Amino acid sequence: MSGPIPIFADEAVRLEVLREYDILDTPPEGSFDNITRLAKLILGTSMSSISLIDKDRQWLKSSQGMDTQVTPRSVSFCAHAITSPDPLIVCDASQDKRFRDNPLVLGEPHIRFYAGMPLVTTANANLGALCVLDPHPRAGGVSAEHLDALYALSRMTVDAIELRRLAVLDSLTDLLTRGAFRHAAKSEFAGAVRDASPLSCVIIDIDHFKAINDTYGHAIGDTVLRSVAAMLRAETRASDLVGRIGGEEFALLLPNTSIEVAIRCAERIRATLATMLVTVAGKRLALTASLGVSTCQQHDEAIEMVMARADRALYASKHAGRNRVSVAADPAQSVSAA
Ligand code: GH3
Ligand code: MG
Ligand code: MG
Repeated sequence: MSGPIPIFADEAVRLEVLREYDILDTPPEGSFDNITRLAKLILGTSMSSISLIDKDRQWLKSSQGMDTQVTPRSVSFCAHAITSPDPLIVCDASQDKRFRDNPLVLGEPHIRFYAGMPLVTTANANLGALCVLDPHPRAGGVSAEHLDALYALSRMTVDAIELRRLAVLDSLTDLLTRGAFRHAAKSEFAGAVRDASPLSCVIIDIDHFKAINDTYGHAIGDTVLRSVAAMLRAETRASDLVGRIGGEEFALLLPNTSIEVAIRCAERIRATLATMLVTVAGKRLALTASLGVSTCQQHDEAIEMVMARADRALYASKHAGRNRVSVAADPAQSVSAA
C-alpha cells in the first residue's frame, strides 16, 4: 500500500457542500428508504440509517428500526465515520473507549455493533455515512462480502443525493422541484429587473396536512398532493412557474403580474381548494390552504427577498386562522377569511 491518504475537504467547505445539496430537513424519499431497507436486510441488523453530519447535529435522511431523526453531533457514531475514507467498524461499543460512555450505548437504543460507510461526493466532501447498527455485539466484525455490499449501497446513496439535486421535476407531482424553481425564479427576476416589468410570488401551504396522513395514510396524502398540483397547474398560465418547494408547500412565480392580479389569483386558488373535494377511496376530503403573496420591489436585490416576504405573509395567514390569503406589507394585511 502506498500513496497519499486522501484529504477530505475542510469542515467549512464540507458544510458548504452539504448546504448546496439542499437535503437537510427535507421529507422522506423512496430512493433513500429503499437503500436503508436493503442495508438492514443484507447486514442482518435491527437498525440502519443514512446520516448527514451538520455543524452541530446529525440528521437522518432515512432510517429503519429507530425513531429519532436528529441527535447532537457529539453523540453521533457517524460523526467519527466521516473523518476517514475507510468504513468505521465497531464490534462492541461498550468495549470501545470512544463510545462506551455514549448515551446511545448506555441507554436506548443500546448500540453495540456499528458499521458505517462514508458518503463521499465528487468534491471530496464527506457528507455523512450509510450505517447499520445493532444492540448485539459482533465479535467477528463484518465479512468482506458485507463490506462490499455496504460500499455499493453507499455509492448508490451518493448517486441518489446527486440525482435529486439535478432533478427538475418532482417525481410525485411533476411540478418543478425546489432547486429547479429557485433556478428558474432567479432568471425570471433578472428579466423583470431588466424590463422593469412586475413579478409576483405566491406561496401556498396546505393546512393541517399531517392530519390527512395520520387519518388516511401516506398514500392518500400523496394522492391529495397530486390533486393540488394539478389544480395549481390548471389555475395558472403556461408562463407561470409552479413548484413544489416543500412536502406540502407550493410556490408560484407570476411574470408580468401586478400585486393586485396576484392577490386575485391567490384568492381563486384558496377558494378552489376550499370547495374542491378530493375523492379518495370513496371518501371525500375537505382541504384548505394558507397563502402568502408578495411582489418584486425596486429595492429587492434577489428573488430570495421576494420569496421570503411571501413566506412571512403565509405565516401571517396561518396565525390568523388558516384558509386565507395574506399580502406581504407592513403590517401584513389579511384580504380574505374563511
Ligand atoms: P399547518 O396547518 O401548520 O401547515 O399544519 P401541517 O400539518 O400541514 O404542517 P406540518 O408541517 O406539521 O406537517 C406537514 C406534513 O406533511 C408532515 C409530513 O409527513 C407531510 N408530508 C410531507 N411530504 C409529504 C409527502 O410527500 N407525502 C405525504 N403523504 N405527506 C408528506
Ligand atoms: Mg401545512
Ligand atoms: Mg408546511
